[in-house]
Amino acid sequence: MRRKTYESNLSKLESWAKKNNVKIVFGRHGELGEYDMHTKTIIVDSRLSNEKKIFVILHECGHALVHKTIYGDRKYAVQVESFIDFSKKYTDEYKVEILREEFDAWERGVNLSRRLRLEGINYRKMKRYASSLIVEYCDWVLG
Ligand SMILES: [Zn+2]
Repeated sequence: MRRKTYESNLSKLESWAKKNNVKIVFGRHGELGEYDMHTKTIIVDSRLSNEKKIFVILHECGHALVHKTIYGDRKYAVQVESFIDFSKKYTDEYKVEILREEFDAWERGVNLSRRLRLEGINYRKMKRYASSLIVEYCDWVLG
């Protein structure tokens, strides 16, 4: 992704984040990206290539979108219950909801990129990247 394209995409994402009361910060972090639902902060690994930064930010914005409506969303009922009852985190239903959120967050990220008319997004490449992270994530959740 060309530098100009990256900068224009990033600024579109930053204004979306601002409107949604979400912060985007870059830093060195254990994960490539993370969404902290308590502080509504997206943390992106600054060592990633510009193209991957955009993929990761889109995905984390997807998490922000999921969490915006999570209390009313029956798909995530067990996750909501787990906020007060931590024992729910050991259930299969919880694990499946967590995996589902990963898929949803990638999908919502793609939809957001279209809504914001981001440019130069290679969706085939984004899917490949998402798949590798989802497989890693499955190992972690189910392992
Ligand atoms: Zn995720």
